[in-house]
Order: sequence, then structure tokens, then C-alpha cells
Amino acid sequence: MTKERILNNIKAIENRITKVCEKSGRSPEDVKLLLATKTVSTDNIKFALQYKQTLIGENKIQEVKKKFTDLNSIPYESHFIGHLQTNKVKELLKYNIKCLQSLDRIRLAKKLQNRLEYEDKTIDVFLQFNTSYEDSKFGMDPKKALTFAKEIKQLDRINIKGLMTIGLFSASQEKVRKCFKLLKKTQTDLLNKGYSVNELSMGMSGDLEIAIEEGATIIRIGSAIFGKRPYPDSYYWNENK
Ligand SMILES: *Cc1c(COP(=O)(O)O)cnc(C)c1O
Repeated sequence: MTKERILNNIKAIENRITKVCEKSGRSPEDVKLLLATKTVSTDNIKFALQYKQTLIGENKIQEVKKKFTDLNSIPYESHFIGHLQTNKVKELLKYNIKCLQSLDRIRLAKKLQNRLEYEDKTIDVFLQFNTSYEDSKFGMDPKKALTFAKEIKQLDRINIKGLMTIGLFSASQEKVRKCFKLLKKTQTDLLNKGYSVNELSMGMSGDLEIAIEEGATIIRIGSAIFGKRPYPDSYYWNENK
């Protein structure tokens, strides 16, 4: 992927954001673009970061580690968006990850809290929900949102800032929309109970318009900017890999 292509792709995404915001009466400033940078070289990440972008998300600790030193020369905000194994918590905290978007289970949260206490740190999290109810997707059952949030709130080193989901991969827009609507509803329920879950991270290259229409505040874009990835996504989303 040439730098010129990357730049044009970012501009195309910005246009898509502006267009759907106009259509749905939202302000483009209320939708942040997170660059999903799995498999992308640090050279290309740096290039994208220099063009107005500040937010990146990685899926695997090994990749965060590999790129960390190289990216140190430029300011950016780093989120973790992949499935995190419980034994990787200590590693996660080494690399200035501001937000773990994929907090999907209590056991992981407790492990994180213990380590954060030990290091005297705090971290932002989004609660990840499985809104498509597919076995292949991680995330808490949205029906358990209140209990889940309540338990996480007991952990004083962890700040719940929002919710995250991966929509169904489907040609049916209505089925995809249903996932995003469910995350929005889950957010409303939690807001009503006093949780400050203001961020909604949903929408990717193929479905960002639907996500923005349904209230996304962060969209996570990879392939539409950096091109097709060398591995199938199951490599990133399968627990056993
Ligand atoms: C890879 C990835 C994205 C971006 O997907 P694209 O379809 O390439 O835009 C978003 N969210 C998560 C969790 C990802 O792993």
C-alpha cells in the first residue's frame, strides 16, 4: 500500500463520515476515527498518524510490543481492541494502553485490577458485548449488562467509559443494524442506572454508516485505509490462536 493510497483512503473515510453525519443530523466531530492497525507496518502507521489521526487500536500484545519503540517518536493514543488472554494483563500495562476496549469478562477485570493496584495505575475500559450472539464473537451477553457493569464498578482502578461491539458480518443491513441498536439500547440502560458509558465503539470498514446512524462515537477502521490483511480475521478473533 503506497502512502498516497493511504492518504486518499483516509480522506475517503472522512467523506463517508461527513456524509452520513449530514444525513443523520450528527456532527462529524462527535465521531472519532480509530485506526485498526493490526498487520500494518509502523512506517505506514506513522504516516497515518501524521495526517490528523491520533487514535490507534491493536489486537495482539505481540504486535503492540513490536511496534511500541518505533512509534515512540510521535504522540498518539493507544487502545487495545483484541481478545486479551488473562495471562497477558501484565504485558498490556507495559505499553501505555489508554483504553482496553475489549473487556469481556469478570475474571479478566479482576486480574487487571490486581495488577493495576500493584503498579499504582488506572485504566479506561469499554465493556465488549456480543450483540450478534455468534459463537465466534467475544463479548458479554447484553442481557447481563447491568450485573457485569455493577461488578466492574467495584474495581476502583478500572474506569468504565463506554461500550464496544463487532457487528454481524452480513449482507443484510437490517441484521447488522440490529446489533448496533442493541449496543445503543444497552448504553441507554446503563446510562439510566448512572454509569458514564458515553462512548460507543462500533462500526468497521464495511458498516460504518449504519453504526454512525445508530450512535457510534468511535468507528474502528482497518482495511478501508490500509488495504486487505494477509490473515483472515478468524486469526485475530479466535480464542485459541
Ligand atoms: C480489524 C478490526 C477492525 C477493523 O476492521 P476492518 O473491517 O478492516 O475495518 C475493527 N475492530 C476490531 C475489533 C478489529 O479486530
